[in-house]
Amino acid sequence: MRRKLVAGNWKMNGSIAANATLIRGVLDGLGAPACDVAVCVPAPYLAQCQSLLAGSPVALGAQDVSMHESGAYTGEISAAMLLDFGCRFAIVGHSERRAYHGETSEGVARKAVAALKAGLTPIVCVGETLAEREAGRTNDVVGAQVDAVLAALDSDNACKIVIAYEPVWAIGTGKTATPAMAQEVHAMIRARLQAKNADAAATVRILYGGSMKPDNAAELLAMPDIDGGLIGGAALKAADFLAIVRAA
Ligand code: PEP
Repeated sequence: MRRKLVAGNWKMNGSIAANATLIRGVLDGLGAPACDVAVCVPAPYLAQCQSLLAGSPVALGAQDVSMHESGAYTGEISAAMLLDFGCRFAIVGHSERRAYHGETSEGVARKAVAALKAGLTPIVCVGETLAEREAGRTNDVVGAQVDAVLAALDSDNACKIVIAYEPVWAIGTGKTATPAMAQEVHAMIRARLQAKNADAAATVRILYGGSMKPDNAAELLAMPDIDGGLIGGAALKAADFLAIVRAA
């Protein structure tokens, strides 16, 4: 049985004061969660959030990681640096980075490899645009994004990733895939994992992301292949994030 994971993606939001309020709000209401919980915060706040989350059940994550180990890569942040700040997770290939920073599936795969090499768990984001869905290309597009990462991993490492299916048209738009639509894509992703190896299919958690909110979380999280959520907007309000954690 896969333990569910609810991970917040704060994106480029926050301040020292707002982060402290948000994290205190989450920790105050959390109790002993029935799922794994993480927050992926902007890099400048990793040290602050590491200290606020110390000793709590909430794991720390980053929103990106360099594919390089070290060296002349101005502005990049290596997996080892994230580890230094207590990170357990790093999002890679978020659709905003694919769209605005030209990230390719091959580059995303290299980032996943770099994260795993350092001992971080990459949360590999995949998803189709509205035009791709309407053209009936969802499985081809998402399948190719998944395959690019799996091709770069050995069987052991393939079991150590998390995948987040985030239909681009659902991110930050208030539009959510129906549970049945999401389940269909998650099952296709599970089949790709199965083709790589049976252990990966059994163990890899496939999160749904895209306007997951307290009022739609329970029905999405009830689907057999939805193993948690990657939460954007709703992760910025402690009460909403906690409601989703409780639904998992
Ligand atoms: C995200 O950016 O990963 C995301 C899922 O955003 P939202 O929940 O706001 O749609």
